[in-house]
Amino acid sequence: MPNLQYMQRIYETLHAHPELSEEEVWTADFISGELTRLGFTVRTNVGGTGVVGILELADRGQTLALRCDMDALPVHEDTGASYASKYPGVMHACGHDSHMATVLGACAYASQNKERLAGTLMAIFQPAEETVVGAKAMLDQGLFSKHKPDHFIGIHNWPSLPVGSIGLQEGPITAFSDRFKVTFVGEGGHGAFPHKTIDSIAMATAGIQNAFALAQRRANASFPQILSFGMIKGGTSFNVIPPKVEVEGTVRTIRQEDQETMIDNLHQAFGAGAHLHGGSYTLEYSKGVPAVVNDATCVNELSEIFSAKIPEIPVVTQGLASLIGEDVAYFLQEVPGALLLIGSGQEGAINELHHPAFLVPTQTLETGYKALTSIVEGYLSCLD
Ligand SMILES: [Zn+2]
Ligand SMILES: [Zn+2]
Repeated sequence: MPNLQYMQRIYETLHAHPELSEEEVWTADFISGELTRLGFTVRTNVGGTGVVGILELADRGQTLALRCDMDALPVHEDTGASYASKYPGVMHACGHDSHMATVLGACAYASQNKERLAGTLMAIFQPAEETVVGAKAMLDQGLFSKHKPDHFIGIHNWPSLPVGSIGLQEGPITAFSDRFKVTFVGEGGHGAFPHKTIDSIAMATAGIQNAFALAQRRANASFPQILSFGMIKGGTSFNVIPPKVEVEGTVRTIRQEDQETMIDNLHQAFGAGAHLHGGSYTLEYSKGVPAVVNDATCVNELSEIFSAKIPEIPVVTQGLASLIGEDVAYFLQEVPGALLLIGSGQEGAINELHHPAFLVPTQTLETGYKALTSIVEGYLSCLD
């Protein structure tokens, strides 16, 4: 498989040069150079540092989009790899380098097999996935105005799946991922005279417990959802009751109606906590990235393609959903498609995304390449 060496080289080069979200300038230049060399028409600065490559094939036909992400994380690498990050404190710890290498491998394949293929291949290199702003920025800048894909495939390596396997599941596989901040306001005072205060700490603790109770008792257990608090800020001294406490947290749901219920729950819970102690609250709720929903038709088509072209690769079809946020969701709201998970877990290795010692194994590139090239064949083959 000649493109495998190419992909490994690309992967190692990108791994050594990680860039944070919205700063993928070197990466964008590098990708543009490769796409140009492969005969793609290249658009740069799409939604910031995003890059789009278009390969028009012989005949008219369908448009297939392959999407990967470009950004790294503020993590200090501890892998000991010969191609480790050159930049202290920045690392491709989520494997986006491997995604770019895999999509470029599929682009190389399409370019080499141009005569046998029809339609249009669109390679989308999206910036700022970790901060979940890149996809929306690309769409806002008219990503699909000229070429609207008939099929859209995103990829992510997945350490909870073993190397050599693929994960593909219909329906929601990630969550509506929201954040909120609630401020409890009372009146501060001496810790020995709580009766002369309106205790914001008491309001916050009651509010948090109420919220947990409602989130648990009002949730439809058939649909996963999570409420977590991540930050509590209030007070300056052990013996002073503070006038104000701020609490921040996150809500994850897979259905919009559960998201709305959770917002109601929070108002009720915090309101009751504040009321109990005679104070008030304000809730700032920010809806974040929506759930990634894999299109049923697309998933069926991909299953057929895989069983026809790469029957040797096991496909996991259940238990893949998690309550993380992924902004590929915005693309999948516009065009039908799926986020494909490529197994990257191996025995004895660190199988954890965002970990300073996490590396994507070579076999993941190979499996991803087989999956994407079979999809290229499946959707863009010339009809005889
Ligand atoms: Zn990540
Ligand atoms: Zn990622």
